Amino acid sequence: MREVFDTRTDPEEVARQLRFIEEGKKITEKLNAEAGRRMKACVVTFGCQMNARDSEKLTGILANMGFEMTEDENADFVIYNTCSVRDNANQKVYGKLGVLNTYKKRNPHMKIALCGCMTQEESVIDKIQNSYPFVDLIFGTHNLYKFPEYYVYMMQKKGMFIDVWESTTKIVEDLPVIRKYPFKSGVNIMFGCDKFCTYCIVPYVRGRERSREPEEIVSEIEKLVKDGVKEVMLLGQNVNSYGKNLEKKTTFPELLRMVEQIEGLQRIRFMTPYPSDFDDDMIACMKDSKKICRHIHLPLQSGSSRILKKMNRRYTKEEFLELALKLRRELPDVAITTDIIVGFPGETKEDIDETLDVIRKVCFDNAFTFIYSKRTGTPAASMPDQVAEEDIKVWFDEVLSLVQNCAKERTALLQDRIEDVLVEDVNSHDSSLVTGRMSNNTLVHFPGDRSLIGEIVTVKLEECRGFYYLGKRL
Ligand code: SF4
Repeated sequence: MREVFDTRTDPEEVARQLRFIEEGKKITEKLNAEAGRRMKACVVTFGCQMNARDSEKLTGILANMGFEMTEDENADFVIYNTCSVRDNANQKVYGKLGVLNTYKKRNPHMKIALCGCMTQEESVIDKIQNSYPFVDLIFGTHNLYKFPEYYVYMMQKKGMFIDVWESTTKIVEDLPVIRKYPFKSGVNIMFGCDKFCTYCIVPYVRGRERSREPEEIVSEIEKLVKDGVKEVMLLGQNVNSYGKNLEKKTTFPELLRMVEQIEGLQRIRFMTPYPSDFDDDMIACMKDSKKICRHIHLPLQSGSSRILKKMNRRYTKEEFLELALKLRRELPDVAITTDIIVGFPGETKEDIDETLDVIRKVCFDNAFTFIYSKRTGTPAASMPDQVAEEDIKVWFDEVLSLVQNCAKERTALLQDRIEDVLVEDVNSHDSSLVTGRMSNNTLVHFPGDRSLIGEIVTVKLEECRGFYYLGKRL
């Protein structure tokens, strides 16, 4: 029987967690008084934009509980918001936990917490309990909103407090948030994934697809715009599947058209669409839109229909090509980027040649290329014919160099164009320059000062530097 999911935030649960934030504040104030200084907290984010959005919530909650936020992990409270999309992400966390323990030996009041996708793996919980007993709190992806409550429990009890759920029907947004960028924000439109690609752990750690009511998303964005946000990133593992569990069915293009109406909002981005769900109405919606950014990240993963079948990706090489070339025709100013996995079990040189063929034909504006990572619990992990490392290395380099050549070729096409750029920061290498992104996500550096941060300004693209531009503000 299909689980029935909430589609609206639960106001009682929000009120309940806000009460725990007040309790947490009293605890922090007491610690401040005892230590004669303010308690410091650090949130460390691993992985994707959905994790980055969750970390903004963790930061908002900690700051509202009276902590001074710091990027320094030698703090009084440190929380790792983990990712488990590839094994090396797990290994990185284990390595860093060892360092945290040295800080904790010097600061016995220090508390360490783990959340995010890694904690949804049973083997990880066992490993933490056995090898890292100094961790104080572990909670999962489905119950992040209970963090205030868990913080209070953790402070009241000795030993490790663990609460990881297999799934949830609840949606609880509206808790305090501190955004990394005041002028842009991620907005969760849905959670979970029902695609079950055979290499991917996400459906097992983020649960079944469940969408939020469009009205709730629109009102969240209206509040963000009032708070100075110019650009939103609509987030979901599979944004094209938006709305399937809603009583009143709303498609993703319909949601985009609603968001487009929001006054004061200047840019709309979305992450991540699924190729075979990217329909003609989506293309028409982008064509008519003044606000949807000219960038589509469309994960290919492999160009071989044989491997796509083994990956349980629901399209063939030909279908992906047909869509991508249609996008090139219908939306010529749109940048198309992608994800590619090299070394999937059973992959051969012929399969790689198929992938190279798609890259050449689409000429992606950029691509994230990954070496296949065996994830325990995914079907692909037990597939035969794991590919030899030396082959993977050769193929990966071949794919990467073709991807980079295409990206350079596409970027060079923008020479001398006049573009609107959202300024994100002062350039980290040259403080006389600022850095920003065009609508198609290309990076531009040009002379300016920090007063431009958060502004959308007009820039002439003067000098192509491979994957980015140097420009002049007009
Ligand atoms: S679509 Fe596939 S790769 Fe993407 S999150 Fe879902 S299962 Fe993972």
